[in-house]
Amino acid sequence: MTVEKDEKAVPEEQHYEDYSDLYPGRKGPVKRGFFGQIFLLDRQEIMEKTKCELNVYNRLQHSPLVKLMLAALKSSGCEVDLGRHISCEVCEKEVTGGYDPKLNQIIICQNTCRTKNRVQSTLSHELIHMFDFCRNKLDLNNIDHLACTEIRAANLCHCSFMGAVTRGLAGPFHIKQAHQDCVADKAIRSIMAVKNVSKEEATEAVMRVFLKCYNDLEPVGRRLRRNSRDMEKAYIEGPLYGYSD
Ligand SMILES: [Zn+2]
Repeated sequence: MTVEKDEKAVPEEQHYEDYSDLYPGRKGPVKRGFFGQIFLLDRQEIMEKTKCELNVYNRLQHSPLVKLMLAALKSSGCEVDLGRHISCEVCEKEVTGGYDPKLNQIIICQNTCRTKNRVQSTLSHELIHMFDFCRNKLDLNNIDHLACTEIRAANLCHCSFMGAVTRGLAGPFHIKQAHQDCVADKAIRSIMAVKNVSKEEATEAVMRVFLKCYNDLEPVGRRLRRNSRDMEKAYIEGPLYGYSD
């Protein structure tokens, strides 16, 4: 399973040996203490789930990046069915989403992904993992495979020039380097969220596959810049590469 974490809330060194603990909703109904049994909390959870599902549905309809990913998955023989492949669930509070390769299912955390933007970034990140799993028969127990798909997800969805500047990594003359640093940094943290490995092991895996995976821009075809029309352009150009819905 890959895990998408809310990096602001999480110390970087945190390890998870049993990541099923991150998704209590996966194990059946969540057990509650006395206060949790109050009807109102149940109702709040149902409302959260509905809101999450509406946000997912909205992004599937209107986000160019998400629509491009869906078209690419369909063209690759892995068509996404909303009800079957995407699930809104309660997660531990430091997690925003994940991809479960056993069930080929994306988890969006209804309690932490409360806005359309959050849903979009988590959904497109996890769709990259789903695409890589569809196309390359990913083995997520292989740390190099995991590093590659995390590099691609960070590269295509998460890191942008503006993002790197706000993270304090970029000066005006170091945009390219800052983007690569952002991708490597995010990928290393994503690996450590899933696998019980040291930062050195995660860094070594990222460095081993970095150039190959950083330059693999399928199916988006470009690095997206924030506040630009890149997302729309990528979607419009999708059919040129055989990705159409
Ligand atoms: Zn990931």
